[in-house]
Amino acid sequence: MAANAEFLAPQCYKSDIKPIWCPGCGDFGVLSSITQALSESGLSREEVAVVSGIGCSSRTPAYLSVYGFHAVHGRALTVATGLKVARPELTVLIATGDGDGFSIGGNHFLHACRRNTDLTYIVMDNQVYGMTKGQASPTTDPEWVEGKLTPGGTGMNPFQPLVIALASGATFIARCSSGDLQGTADTITAAIRHPGFAFIQVLSPCVTFRPEQRGWRKLAHPAPVAATDDAAQAARRLLTDDSFFTGVLYHNPHRSTRSPEPVRKVHVRDLSAGFQVNDLDLQDRQQEPAIV
Ligand code: SF4
Ligand code: MG
Repeated sequence: MAANAEFLAPQCYKSDIKPIWCPGCGDFGVLSSITQALSESGLSREEVAVVSGIGCSSRTPAYLSVYGFHAVHGRALTVATGLKVARPELTVLIATGDGDGFSIGGNHFLHACRRNTDLTYIVMDNQVYGMTKGQASPTTDPEWVEGKLTPGGTGMNPFQPLVIALASGATFIARCSSGDLQGTADTITAAIRHPGFAFIQVLSPCVTFRPEQRGWRKLAHPAPVAATDDAAQAARRLLTDDSFFTGVLYHNPHRSTRSPEPVRKVHVRDLSAGFQVNDLDLQDRQQEPAIV
């Protein structure tokens, strides 16, 4: 991660576009924490790219004045991985939601954890598809009966993103609450510094379709123990915690990440030279018998 000597205030990373999220949406807090973390990291705006998928939280790149890419549904991680491989000097963050990231993009989530590419993956989890007006998502509890398509509840066990990230090889796993601006900013800063794939689940209430989530702010509390680098210990903790522990829960800085060298710049003339057909080859081919 390159650091810029010139300090930028968090506000400098915001664009002039006003968010159209519902008043009280948790995503406002996450946006503020991202700008705070970029400021704390000492990064210039040209050193950062934020990639998103589709959904309310995926509007985030538009509200930032860094490089941004609003990808198609579930593909934010693929775009971000390609960008990081091609431009390793960039700090690449992904901002998306639980429907986009764990359902449509679920397969990419598993393999991004395995690859351990140096990315910071922020999922604003409100256990609902907010932008499409309130359907159950992979993390919805099975008894939730307000979903437009599941009036009797989903009847399915919710997706466990932190446990799945651990099992798939992620090297930095954290949970935050959008109501804790500084705590979330500190965790994003630590994730940016981590040289590998960092996954952060942010409990970010959808006040419109899950108004009961307003209470999350009070339920969230710092984990009583420090982050472990022992995967077995982390698994036990993640499987038994109350889903509201916050902070870095697993951190393994020992597993190496692939850091490709910056792409070598080649003039188009030199590229064409590699495809030139040599005259002798051409003569040989002209003498080959025609296939009939
Ligand atoms: Fe936020 Fe929910 Fe409104 Fe979307 S629908 S902006 S997630 S409160
Ligand atoms: Mg959602």
